[in-house]
Amino acid sequence: MAKITGGCLCGGIRYEIEGDPFRIANCHCDDCRKATGSAYATNLFYQEDQITLLQGSPKRFDHIADSGNSMFKEFCDNCGAQVFGGGSMRPGVKSVKVGSIDYANFVKPQVNLYLSHALDCTLIDEELDCFDAMPPPA
Ligand SMILES: [Zn+2]
Ligand SMILES: [Zn+2]
Repeated sequence: MAKITGGCLCGGIRYEIEGDPFRIANCHCDDCRKATGSAYATNLFYQEDQITLLQGSPKRFDHIADSGNSMFKEFCDNCGAQVFGGGSMRPGVKSVKVGSIDYANFVKPQVNLYLSHALDCTLIDEELDCFDAMPPPA
């Protein structure tokens, strides 16, 4: 995978990413639902240094997840679109929201997380590794 580009809805924030994500997860937790405004979030996980901000500076919101971890969301303070996220359990790692990526057809999710919180109307891909919450630590 070469470089990919993305940004927020208004274009105020633009980024580019070098190399592959080390994990792609569909997260059905309540926090992802609230933060994205969607039924669930598809998150691509990258090392922070793979991501280069080309334009704009995301506003940051910090919160505590039900796991007890402190989490952050980074979003455009003009259009409100969330582009990045992260948390204290994985320092140096950022998640990128699939919807912020310009051409995202390469994305193949590997896992479903927090299925115990999934909406009844959400179609679940049972072929993926499925977890009721987070996977147990490796
Ligand atoms: Zn924007
Ligand atoms: Zn989540």
